[in-house]
Amino acid sequence: MRFSHMLIPTTKEVPNDATLPSHIYLIRGGFIQNVGGSGLYNFLPLGKRVLDTVRAIAKEELDAAGCQEVDLAFVTPASLWEESGRYEKYGKELLRLKDRKENAFVLGPTHEEMMVNLVRHTVRSYKQLPINLYQIKTKFRDEIRPRFGLMRGREFLMKDGYSFHKDAEDMKINGFDNMERAYRRIFDRLGLDYRIVEADSGAIGGSGSKEFMVLAESGEDTIVVCDHCSYGANIEAAKRAPKPAPVYADDEAPEMTRTDFHTPGVTTIDALAEFFHIDSHHLIKAVAKKALYDEGVEKIVLFFIRGNDALEETKACNAVDANELIDISEEALRAAGLTPGYMGFNALPEGVIFRMDQELRGENNLIMGANRAEYHTIGVQMPDVSEHYADLVAVQAGDVCSHCGGTLRHTKGIEVGHIFQLGTRYSEPMGATFLDENGKAKPYEMGTYGIGISRLLAAIIEQHHDDRGCIWTPNTAPFAVEIIISNVKKEAEREAGEALYAQLKAAGVEVLLDDRPERFGSKMSDYELIGIPLAVVIGKKLAEGQAEIIVREGLDRVDHPVDTLFDAVMKRL
Ligand code: ATP
Ligand code: MG
Repeated sequence: MRFSHMLIPTTKEVPNDATLPSHIYLIRGGFIQNVGGSGLYNFLPLGKRVLDTVRAIAKEELDAAGCQEVDLAFVTPASLWEESGRYEKYGKELLRLKDRKENAFVLGPTHEEMMVNLVRHTVRSYKQLPINLYQIKTKFRDEIRPRFGLMRGREFLMKDGYSFHKDAEDMKINGFDNMERAYRRIFDRLGLDYRIVEADSGAIGGSGSKEFMVLAESGEDTIVVCDHCSYGANIEAAKRAPKPAPVYADDEAPEMTRTDFHTPGVTTIDALAEFFHIDSHHLIKAVAKKALYDEGVEKIVLFFIRGNDALEETKACNAVDANELIDISEEALRAAGLTPGYMGFNALPEGVIFRMDQELRGENNLIMGANRAEYHTIGVQMPDVSEHYADLVAVQAGDVCSHCGGTLRHTKGIEVGHIFQLGTRYSEPMGATFLDENGKAKPYEMGTYGIGISRLLAAIIEQHHDDRGCIWTPNTAPFAVEIIISNVKKEAEREAGEALYAQLKAAGVEVLLDDRPERFGSKMSDYELIGIPLAVVIGKKLAEGQAEIIVREGLDRVDHPVDTLFDAVMKRL
C-alpha cells in the first residue's frame, strides 16, 4: 500500500482524556478515532489491519483446536435473559431497549443465553457432543468508567466461545484444558508476555476459572504471584497461608478475661491498637457494606476481619451471594441501630447480617466493638458457626504462599482472556438438555471462553512501545516493512523505492511505501509513531549505492548496498 493513498491521520496532539501510551499512540498514529462519546471508537485503516490480524490468529488456533465459528444476533431478546435470571441481575452494564412494538431486547454484552438457545434447538443427543462454538463479534457493555481507549470501551470486539459436554470430566478435559492450550498458542503468537492466573468464579465457586494476564504496570487488575513457585491468582481469588501472629516471648502473648472496656473516642484500628498497646493482629475490624439483591432487596452486612487485613470486595460479595456491594454511610448505619466505630458481632440489631474471615476461626483473646457507644469487648473468643465464616481478605505483599511457603507479591496485569468452567449454570434454568446413553434427559455441562480482541491492541502497545510510539510485534504489525523515500522529487530515490516496493509485493510481503511529498523528518516521526518493525530508507546515501535499514525496536540503523536490499529485507522478516 502507498502511504499517499491511505487514510492515516497521524497527529502530534495528545487527546486530553488519554494517559496510557497505548491510548495516546493508537489515536496519534491514526489507528483509531474516538466517536465523541466515551468508550466508542472507529477503527481506521491501520487499526482495522491490526484488528483483523489479531482476529485471524485467534481464528486459526481455535479452528485448529476443533472449535467452529458462528455469528449470532447482536440484538438479543430479553426473554432469554429472563430465563437465565440475568435480566435483573446484570445491573446497569446491560443495555436494555425496546422496539416499536414494545418488545424488550438487550445489546449482547456476552452470549451465554443466546448460545444455549442455539444449541438447545439443534443438539439433542450425547452422540453430537462435545461441541465448541465461538464468534468474534461486537459486544456492548455500558461500563461505569469507560477509559484508556480500547482497553475499556463500551463497544468492543470480543471472541466468545462456549462448549457443551455430556459430563463435567469431558468439559474439563476437552473443553477447558483444550482452550487453555489454544489460548497459550494465540498469546504466544501475538508476542505477549503474559501469565495464567486463578480467577474469581463468582457464585459458581471452585477453581474453575483462569485469566490470561498481560503483565504491564498500567494493568487495571492486581495479581498475586509467588516469588518461588508458579502460583499466580487475581487478587479477587488469591489465597495465602494463614497469617501468623507476631512472635512473642512466652509470657508476653496477650491474654484477657472477657469484659467490656470503656474506650471513649477510640474509633479506629490504629487508635485501638495504641489504646491497648497491642498489635492490630489481635483486633477485629468491622467493615460495613450494603449488599444488593434481586427485586430491589438490600441488606446491611458487617464483615469482620483482622485489624491488619483489608477486605477483598469480590470475595465479600460472593460470601453473601449478593449481586453487588456498595458503601454505606454512618447515618444509615446509625439508623439501623449500629454504632460506627464500635461494631462487633454480638448483639447485632435485627436485619443486619455478618460474615467473619475464615482465618479468625478458633482464635481467642481478641478485641472487638461491643455494639454500644464508647465500649469495646476484650477477651473475645470466636464463635464456632461454620456458615458465618468465609475467605474475605485481600492477600497482601509479603504474605506466605500456601503452596510452597514462598513470599507472595503484587503485580499488575491486563486481562486479555478468561476461561471458565460453567457447569450447568445456564443449561439448567434454560431447560437445555440432551439425551444421554440411557435415553435420560440431562442438562449440558458447559464452559465459556472469552478473549478481548480489541483490548489486545492496547495490551500489545502497553507492552511494546517507547517514547516515540508503537513497536508492533512481528505477527501483529499492520505491515511487515515500510519503505521511506526520503525525497520523492529525486527521481533516483523514487525509482529505487518503487523497485523494492514492487519486488517485496511480488514476494507476498505486506509493505507500506511512504511516497508522500513530505519532509523526511516528518515521515520518520510518523514511522516511529506507527511502529512497523522494519523500515528501509532510500535517501542521500543512494549516490554511494547504499540504503539504510532500521529496526523499530531500539531504532538500530545499518547501511546496506541497494543491489542486495531485497535479500537483506527478506532475511530479516
Ligand atoms: P473486566 O474485569 O476487565 O471488566 P470481564 O471480567 O468483565 O473483564 P469477561 O466478561 O470475562 O470480562 O469478557 C471476556 C474478555 O473481554 C475479557 O477478558 C476482556 O479481555 C474483554 N473485555 C471485557 N470488558 C471489556 C471492555 N469494556 N472493553 C474491552 N474489552 C473488554
Ligand atoms: Mg467487566
